[in-house]
Amino acid sequence: MRVDVVTIFPEYLAPLELSLIGRARRDGVLDVRVHDLRAFTHDRHRTVDDSPFGGGAGMVMTPQPWAEALDHVVATGPDGAQAVPHLLVPGPGGVPFTQAMARRLSEEPWLAIACGRYEGIDERVHEHAAERMPVTVVSLGDYVLNGGEVAALAIVEAVGRLLPGVVGNAESLVEESHEGGLLEYPVYTRPAAWDDGGVVREVPAVLLGGDHAAVARWRHEQRLARTAARRPDLLAPAATVAGLDDLDVRVATPADAPELLVLQRACWMPEARVSGSWPIPPLEESLDDVVAGLGEWTTWVARVPAEGGALGRLVASVRGRVRPGDPTVWETGRLVVAPDLQGRGLGRALLAHAESAAPEAVRSFWINTSRVMDANVRRYRRAGYRLVPGEGTYPGTVDLTKPRR
Ligand code: SAM
Repeated sequence: MRVDVVTIFPEYLAPLELSLIGRARRDGVLDVRVHDLRAFTHDRHRTVDDSPFGGGAGMVMTPQPWAEALDHVVATGPDGAQAVPHLLVPGPGGVPFTQAMARRLSEEPWLAIACGRYEGIDERVHEHAAERMPVTVVSLGDYVLNGGEVAALAIVEAVGRLLPGVVGNAESLVEESHEGGLLEYPVYTRPAAWDDGGVVREVPAVLLGGDHAAVARWRHEQRLARTAARRPDLLAPAATVAGLDDLDVRVATPADAPELLVLQRACWMPEARVSGSWPIPPLEESLDDVVAGLGEWTTWVARVPAEGGALGRLVASVRGRVRPGDPTVWETGRLVVAPDLQGRGLGRALLAHAESAAPEAVRSFWINTSRVMDANVRRYRRAGYRLVPGEGTYPGTVDLTKPRR
């Protein structure tokens, strides 16, 4: 990936020579080119700003050096190619910079970042740029910095570390905060008991026991608790999910497990009757198994709204996860809708909701169902899935996949 940064403080970008990003540059994975805006001025004082029309405090960056600098960046593109960079203009009034945006940007071959200073850049530079390349104004957050350089550092680091090979263990990227909609769980290392000047601080016992399912469950509970405490907005009901407007859709917690177990047993009974065969995991699972499943998957539950903040009836659920060992596949499953609400498109909308939560790296969706449940297969086909020929992942089942669009 190539990134061009235009700034009046090229030295500000020096940290991009350090650590993983510095190594990625040396390895040729990331080609960062920093341009001094003042090199595109033509007066003795190398002026880049002037007072604002209409009055007011501060100075505004003049259009001419910016237009020349951006034209210069475009002109240095790959020989003969019509390529242009995606221009990011940092600004507190921009689109919030998120992990999802970082993922999208990491798939682009060429970015440019225009670092403003003072009161910002003359608006006509945006028009000039937009006629030549895609432009996005990007905000680091709801606060005001002195210049765009800190944003450029943040963007290059967040995007650069998603490029293949930059972070040694690609799996560590999957579990992080903001991947999958939740914050990360707390992490610990040796010593297991740390003598903090007389106070012994211990690592949670579950992490030392070697029970992987218990660790996964604990981590999921911690992710939920931490997200609820620090970023409740991330757990807010997905009221805008198409087709689910009347329902309250949330990420499931262990408190939802008893109702989830009842619903899954009710919904899998028809399969037991049609197939006449056992075991069927959703029918065999204990309450502990359901709780453990919440730790290994992101599960959403939909409830009908209730009066006065009370919990409404749990009427539908679905779950999804990145396939262990393959971050390009998003496995979905356990799609259930209460028998009295079936046939209203709820399942379809919930499945689409689970698909939309897949991280950017995901390229295809996967679901598995019983071979005898023709209605399920038809339903998934209507949702765009295609049958994978042959036996499914589990005996008596079929796999269905669809590419991400
Ligand atoms: N007058 C501008 C406004 O109110 O939107 C703020 C200008 S700010 C002092 C100067 C520069 O800092 C901006 O042009 C932008 O490059 C950068 N900047 C400030 N806050 C930022 C933020 N939250 N995210 C990204 N860039 C920011």
